[in-house]
Amino acid sequence: MKFIIATHNQKKLLELRRILSPLGMEVLTAEEAGINFDDVEETGTTFEENAQIKALALFDGSGFGTIADDSGLCVDALDGAPGIYSARYSGEHGNDAENIELLLKNMADVPDSERTARFVCAVCCVMPDGKQFTVRGECEGKIGYECLGDGGFGYDPIFMLSDGRSMAQLSKDEKDAISHRGNALEKLVERLEF
Ligand code: IMP
Repeated sequence: MKFIIATHNQKKLLELRRILSPLGMEVLTAEEAGINFDDVEETGTTFEENAQIKALALFDGSGFGTIADDSGLCVDALDGAPGIYSARYSGEHGNDAENIELLLKNMADVPDSERTARFVCAVCCVMPDGKQFTVRGECEGKIGYECLGDGGFGYDPIFMLSDGRSMAQLSKDEKDAISHRGNALEKLVERLEF
């Protein structure tokens, strides 16, 4: 089954593709499918709403089945921030280094026991016939004190897992096996019933 992915984030795209391809799903970017798809404004108030906005925008413009993910980091001590604003926490869209710097600054006085956080990923799938559904995956961890590792992207270097490694210190396969995105895509594939 062929789907177009509504993202311009290359690292996210690689993760989506490497998880879905072995499951028999062919995933193309809008560009690869020859479709003009500009970023849509993410006006939703939840990950689910934003994933749906992106998937439907691409479906309307293409007629293909589409998949969109909206994801982010929710930190308990910051009342769930940066949440749906994760990509632009420090102001500039997609500046991982500045987002991490601001988050560590805002967490400076938070004790170890209160540094709990989770990555969340909502994936919306619009089928070629227009039917749609949304699934959610989560991954629990804690906010560290410095960047560790150089894998992954976004907040991975400061997201600490229970084994003492950061998400950026995992191999690609290890990340996919436990990540919010891996978890959501597993549910997506179950729903598609291959
Ligand atoms: P989106 O493109 O609006 O879904 O923004 C997602 C943002 O959340 C990214 O720019 C990252 O800052 C963060 N994020 C989402 N997934 C991950 C992940 O797997 N690792 C690290 N950061 C992530």
